[in-house]
Amino acid sequence: MAEPIKKRIAIFGSTGSIGTQALEVIDAHPDLFDVEILTAQTNDKLLIEQALKYLPNAVVIGDERKYDSVNKALESKDIKVFAGENALEEVADFDTYDMMLAAIVGFAGLKPTLKAIEKGKAIALANKETLVVAGDIVMQMAVAHRVPIIPVDSEHSAIFQCLVGEVRNKIEKIILTASGGPFLGKKPNFLVNVKRDHALQHPNWKMGAKITIDSATLMNKGLEMIEAKWLFNLLPEQIEVVIHPQSIVHSMVQFEDGSVKAQMGLPDMKLPIQYALTFPQRIANDNRRINFKKTPVLAFEEPDIKTFRNLSLAMLALEKGGNFPCILNAANEIAVWAFLNNRIGFLDITAVVEKCLQKINYIEKPNLTDYFESDGEARNFAASLIKM
Ligand code: NAD
Ligand code: MG
Repeated sequence: MAEPIKKRIAIFGSTGSIGTQALEVIDAHPDLFDVEILTAQTNDKLLIEQALKYLPNAVVIGDERKYDSVNKALESKDIKVFAGENALEEVADFDTYDMMLAAIVGFAGLKPTLKAIEKGKAIALANKETLVVAGDIVMQMAVAHRVPIIPVDSEHSAIFQCLVGEVRNKIEKIILTASGGPFLGKKPNFLVNVKRDHALQHPNWKMGAKITIDSATLMNKGLEMIEAKWLFNLLPEQIEVVIHPQSIVHSMVQFEDGSVKAQMGLPDMKLPIQYALTFPQRIANDNRRINFKKTPVLAFEEPDIKTFRNLSLAMLALEKGGNFPCILNAANEIAVWAFLNNRIGFLDITAVVEKCLQKINYIEKPNLTDYFESDGEARNFAASLIKM
């Protein structure tokens, strides 16, 4: 029998939480995938290790000071080595891959993803900020280039899975579940003193630092509402958030007949990553299974948006649209960075985001240049508030 054709995967952000778990998925199915491109920002050591194992066509190290180290280590191999921000778009423009796993964190993921879409490459999208910032442009380009955008984010993967076989059926609403993070039930008098290490301890998921803080502030769920709007073409009022501390129900879709479909599983990103890489097929794996007999409670409750005000700011951005989500995202990236570096307190994250939304000019129908400008302006203003 002829060998099956392997899907050639470009992993942008291969050294991160999603990137490394994607490589574990690929390890479990070496007959299905080839690794074509790997990129990392600063972790040259891990990038080199990955490159020596998977022998991709090309690697990118974002931090140009690390080019020599990567290049030297891979000297004897037939691997092209690039460095710097622009190299991400350069390799996204290659013909030699089939699918990009967009697993860079933050706004930095936008440009290479746009380039891959322009090239007609399928996208497995973990980088939610891409859709938060410029969802209209990204989705329009994807339609124009007939590119599927397959969500990796667990909630959106859940909804995507619930929608299989429902093409003609209208969605009444979607229900995004949120674990509530480490500070579920806490009030501002507690949150004001929260420190970085505590906020980094997520009860159910092990993720990169930025999204872990976003989960603790509930900004992550706000970003996900905006992500869902673009992925599934929804109105703001069709998107609901419910707290579900067990993280077993990954999200739900309610149809016009009142039927609700949910996708469930133990919290493990390897499933949504695998599903995005193999869609429309499901393939066997030996990930842990739920034992319902030992899961007596699946609880749901209202989110406390008075305490976790980032979620209400994100809802405002979702409602207003235009460049508001872009401003929200940029301000949040700076504020989270400052919190991670012990420069501001937990509640200051919200204050910074709110001030940026008040200060930066609203544009109702931004183009791509406007998005880049709004991003820059919001970053500068946020930095001035933090006195960086
Ligand atoms: P991470 O911080 O663990 O990894 C980020 C990756 O991006 C690393 O490989 C890093 O080298 C690279 N990177 C960082 N800054 C960069 C820059 N300026 N330019 C180029 N590359 C850069 O993050 P993560 O947790 O893997 O998250 C990645 C994306 O996936 C985020 O958008 C996040 O919201 C989304 N996501 C993650 C999870 C999760 O479980 N980790 C779940 C859902 C969605
Ligand atoms: Mg998620």
